[in-house]
Amino acid sequence: MQFNNRYYQQFTAHYHSQLPQPLSHPKLVCKNQTLADYLGFTPDLISEADFTRVFSGQSVIEGMQPLAQKYTGHQFGQYNPQLGDGRGLLLGELKAEDNIAWDLHLKGAGPTPYSRGGDGRAVLRSSIREFLASEALHHLGIPSSRALALTVGDNPVYRETQEQAAMLTRVCRSHIRFGHFEYLFHTRQPDELKKLVDFCIEQYFPDCLKAEKPVYAFFKQVVLDTARLIAKWQAFGFCHGVMNSDNMSILGITFDYGPYAFLDTYQEGFICNHSDHTGRYAFNRQPSIGLWNLNCLAHAFSGLLSMDELKSALLEYEPAFINAYSQLMQQKLGFSQWQPDDKLILGKLLDLMQANQLDYSNTFRQLSETDKQSELLSWFGANEQSTEWINQYLRRINQQPMSASERFANMQKINPKYILRNYLAQNAISAAEQGDFSLVNELYQVLQNPFSEQAGKQAFAKNAPEWAQKLEISCSS
Ligand code: AMP
Ligand code: MG
Repeated sequence: MQFNNRYYQQFTAHYHSQLPQPLSHPKLVCKNQTLADYLGFTPDLISEADFTRVFSGQSVIEGMQPLAQKYTGHQFGQYNPQLGDGRGLLLGELKAEDNIAWDLHLKGAGPTPYSRGGDGRAVLRSSIREFLASEALHHLGIPSSRALALTVGDNPVYRETQEQAAMLTRVCRSHIRFGHFEYLFHTRQPDELKKLVDFCIEQYFPDCLKAEKPVYAFFKQVVLDTARLIAKWQAFGFCHGVMNSDNMSILGITFDYGPYAFLDTYQEGFICNHSDHTGRYAFNRQPSIGLWNLNCLAHAFSGLLSMDELKSALLEYEPAFINAYSQLMQQKLGFSQWQPDDKLILGKLLDLMQANQLDYSNTFRQLSETDKQSELLSWFGANEQSTEWINQYLRRINQQPMSASERFANMQKINPKYILRNYLAQNAISAAEQGDFSLVNELYQVLQNPFSEQAGKQAFAKNAPEWAQKLEISCSS
């Protein structure tokens, strides 16, 4: 195993070195074998028992140099200077078989100087949610941090009730957040800030080095990547829940899963986070919050780029978002290109879903499986609006010089059959809390092929039952 811990070596003033506080009597709940093999954790190199020990904080592998990173950020609109890894440790940066370096981060590894009185732990419930979501989004084609391992111990953790401590190993190219730049800016460390910017450009955005102004090219790329990421969230009905700027990755990947949700019935203003009283992070506000967070990042870059440069890069956000979102929705609807009235067709469809309380993903999947008017009517509900929309849609798709089977095949590649519904995660969590990890692993398996029909897995594709529409997910994790 080849660790080359560049953050550890180069940013010595901005972290705290410490070892994980181990789980006691750890058990392995889930393992991402494909990712493990790719990273070099093959069964001939590391036994399952040793793998469990390492990813429950009981031992470290030679070459790991665990550390808690310092960062700050805007939480619910307010700047908080006190943030940092309060319960997670960057274990090290590991080179995979293809020479790409990956950060391994152990979440739930005990208190750090940035814990602000918290216990430094993560509970089994939230760790299962993060494991499943990381992998579900990745397999849907939405950029995300990955999950390598999930372990549980018998250490008690106190939230609303007593729960079990767990650790999640997160893998991504970098753990650098918008908040890292905000920290160096607001603590007036311009040289360190420039060093971090140069580091990011060299390591993660080398193409920017070819540009006339690499820092500008880098900032603009972050703007574009963020816009395209959020376009994917909107298209797949994913609500992040806590889009604080410390939860925004500089790589434009989905990061730091908390009370997220995939939409069940479509509600444009859906708020998945029970603690978000004002709806700041409601589903339909995510695109504008993405831009709000980029403004925080722009502020941090204000010593490196002129106001005109910052403004011009930020102006790229909206067209990039609209462009990416339109392309995705066009594919979801089965249109080979946008025609003038298509935005109206989409708008009316969303209105219809909202009025008739239709499931977001399953409505698109339905349109990917049948174009029989009677079947669509029974899905949408036989009323005037549905009939009108269905007729307009059928006229539109029948204009295309494409066979229905070809159209269905294309649509089924973007309209998932299986998504990570909160109630599915909840059922898996309830079983896991009783010591039965089979349902978590079955769900994990299903979510690795979200677009394909899977024999015997029909139950995972159903609309959420009534009770689950009322599931409330809090920030406590
Ligand atoms: P999150 O809501 O998970 O993004 O966390 C926001 C901030 O609170 C980060 O600085 C976390 O490290 C910290 N934090 C969250 N939960 C805990 C905990 N149980 N113990 C210590 N710090 C925590
Ligand atoms: Mg966070």
